[in-house]
Amino acid sequence: MNRFAFAQARSIPEAAIAASTTVADAMIVAPDATEGGGISIVKAGGIDLLDLMKEGLLAPSKVMNLKDIPGLDMVVEEEGGGLQLGPLATLAALAEHPLLRQRYAALANALRSSASPQIRNVATLGGNLLQRPRCWYFRSQAYRCLRKGGGHCFAIAGENQYHAIFNNMPCAIVHPSTAATVLVALGATVELTDATGGRRQLSLEDFFVPVERDLQRENDLKPREILSAIRLPKPPARRRVVHVRQGEKDSFDWPLADVAVALDVAENGICQRAAVILGAAAPVPHRAKTAEAALTGKRIDESVATAAGQAAIESATPLSKNAYKLPLFEMLVRRAILKAAA
Ligand SMILES: Cc1cc2nc3c(=O)[nH]c(=O)nc-3n(C[C@H](O)[C@H](O)[C@H](O)COP(=O)(O)OP(=O)(O)OC[C@H]3O[C@@H](n4cnc5c(N)ncnc54)[C@H](O)[C@@H]3O)c2cc1C
Ligand code: SF4
Repeated sequence: MNRFAFAQARSIPEAAIAASTTVADAMIVAPDATEGGGISIVKAGGIDLLDLMKEGLLAPSKVMNLKDIPGLDMVVEEEGGGLQLGPLATLAALAEHPLLRQRYAALANALRSSASPQIRNVATLGGNLLQRPRCWYFRSQAYRCLRKGGGHCFAIAGENQYHAIFNNMPCAIVHPSTAATVLVALGATVELTDATGGRRQLSLEDFFVPVERDLQRENDLKPREILSAIRLPKPPARRRVVHVRQGEKDSFDWPLADVAVALDVAENGICQRAAVILGAAAPVPHRAKTAEAALTGKRIDESVATAAGQAAIESATPLSKNAYKLPLFEMLVRRAILKAAA
């Protein structure tokens, strides 16, 4: 790891001024990660950032810590019944927060199942949404792949067992955030604040950037911007939300596949609106539109859930070593729908 200056930000604008470049840009500008090149970046829990620095993929001259900015770790009830989650709230604090457990239990459960207790105590929600992909070629200094500004994807013809089964050309990363799968199903929005205090809001779904829009970044964070809030709308009274995941291990690892389903079921038992989001499936959380269409206007039973599971993987284009994900997602979608409808 290189030598770098370390400072504590006391306000969001101060942090935004320090965020002279995004980590995505820094990894392209200074691919050899040796000089620092005047790059200044922000740190939350530091789990992902320090990994990148230790792996020799990133060498900032300055790291600005966000952890002491007052109020950025709060959970606040909003007018209208939604919740505002501070980006500096840890995964552990959110997983145990009474308002989340009561109103957004699927999110609390997804956070509780992410990583390990030690990591959840340090990792923040903002950092989780902004963590960089786990593709092992991306994480190795030895491979300068497309996402790092190189000319080739090594995974597509290589070791791709943990990679995407949707929208996987020309880069087959899967989005690494488990929380994002549920947050997109819940219709969450994000707020970004710049160095002048100016704010913009967009849906989390639109904040994530698909490969056809930009190959080298996973989100729309700009230089000198700070993720300042994540907002959850008030859930309709009859909404049921379920998150399920399957991994090689129960803890200390990212899932192989995870699914969030949100169903608005009317009193007569008919599904009026469905969100079916697949995680670890595509470069961004993947909305399975055909599965949503297979549920809307139907009374949910085993055959409808089975048909939706099949529809969810209809447009998949698996690579040489990850076709096992197809039956896995089909099963998880079916299971999540039946659990939500129960
Ligand atoms: C063994 C292991 C297992 C894991 N399993 C899972 C899992 O199952 N599911 C899962 O989702 N994750 C998993 N993770 C990933 C882990 O949860 C993330 O690395 C962590 O949440 C990142 O949060 P952080 O606060 O440490 O972010 P940091 O490392 O501090 O920051 C991450 C990135 O976000 C930027 N940043 C952070 N906060 C802000 C902000 N407010 N505004 C602007 N930029 C910001 C930083 O500059 C950096 O680029 C696992 C990690 C490990 C090591
Ligand atoms: S999948 Fe993406 S990140 Fe991985 S090697 Fe290919 S281009 Fe790089």
